[in-house]
Amino acid sequence: MANTLIDNFGRQHDYLRISLIERCNLRCTYCMPEEGIRLRDKSEFMTQEELIHLAKTFVDLGVRKIRLTGGEPLIKKDFAEILFQLGQLPVELAITTNGVLLDKYFPAMRKAGLKKLNISLDSLNEEKFNAISRRKNFKRIWKNINTAVREGFDVKINVVLMKNVNDNEIIDFIRLSKSAPLKIRFIEFMPFNGNEWDWTKTVRHSEIIDQVDKYYAQQYSQQNTKKNSTSKNYKINGFKGDFGIISTLTNPFCDGCNRIRLTADGKIKNCLFSSDETDLLTAFRNGEDIVPLIKSSIQSKHEKKAGIKTFRNDDDASIYNNNRSMTTIGG
Ligand code: SAM
Ligand code: SF4
Repeated sequence: MANTLIDNFGRQHDYLRISLIERCNLRCTYCMPEEGIRLRDKSEFMTQEELIHLAKTFVDLGVRKIRLTGGEPLIKKDFAEILFQLGQLPVELAITTNGVLLDKYFPAMRKAGLKKLNISLDSLNEEKFNAISRRKNFKRIWKNINTAVREGFDVKINVVLMKNVNDNEIIDFIRLSKSAPLKIRFIEFMPFNGNEWDWTKTVRHSEIIDQVDKYYAQQYSQQNTKKNSTSKNYKINGFKGDFGIISTLTNPFCDGCNRIRLTADGKIKNCLFSSDETDLLTAFRNGEDIVPLIKSSIQSKHEKKAGIKTFRNDDDASIYNNNRSMTTIGG
């Protein structure tokens, strides 16, 4: 079926990111408020049947890729069943996970045909990683990353770079892509409700490239980037894997945006930075036709970054503070 999710800027939306759950088994400083998030009643979230129904509706409208995220998608009790059912749809499946529980789900992932794993790991130093995530899971995650690579999954490592925290590990991360087909993705630290962001903590695209230039000089090249890609990718000559930079703040990729987000409580967010949401779940429960709601959400999408012009520390703080924290959006 032709894609009918085209916005006012001609962008076709064929990639749905579904947040399965708001909660998480880690407490990453840049994502989750220290005190955790307010727990809400189960009835406020999509049931498995509702989630599958909404996902099918998006697929009927032209969605061809679904990524599961969270909170932490693997702490969802019926994760394997949801994954299996989504695997019956004509879509490519992917997941973004902190990797703690991956060892429990490799067989379910293979069964559902999921090959693309984005695993978040912000430091190669155990103590530092555990401090950033406020939990002690480094060893298990590291083992799971190695298993995933060995078993032939397509693995990306997501690294949120923060000044004076882990920006001294850029080259160490890139080195991981030397003998394994790993894709390292450095992400600029972004502002969300409760994460105490400010510009001085963000490591910009240009600063990452400066470090790479110093270390690898002319021995790397930029890769061809797909139109919808969120990252600019590079490869060190002779390395099996590559690295990329997701520079949402300094170099946004809004022009080719093809993404729609569905939160665990059944709301559409048409942009990561948008605080406007469309409540699909309530409409669905009331027996309304949700297709017009999906289309009008896509049509109200701003050209860039939900209409936010800059991210200075002062005057824009209220805009991003009205947005959800990252753990309730799903990245
Ligand atoms: N729990 C899973 C994980 O950590 O991969 C999935 C959800 S997490 C919200 C999705 C992605 O968003 C992760 O790669 C995480 O590092 C990233 N993220 C969270 N907060 C961020 C922030 N403030 N700036 C940039 N990336 C962020
Ligand atoms: Fe949890 Fe992922 Fe957020 Fe870390 S980044 S607190 S693992 S949702």
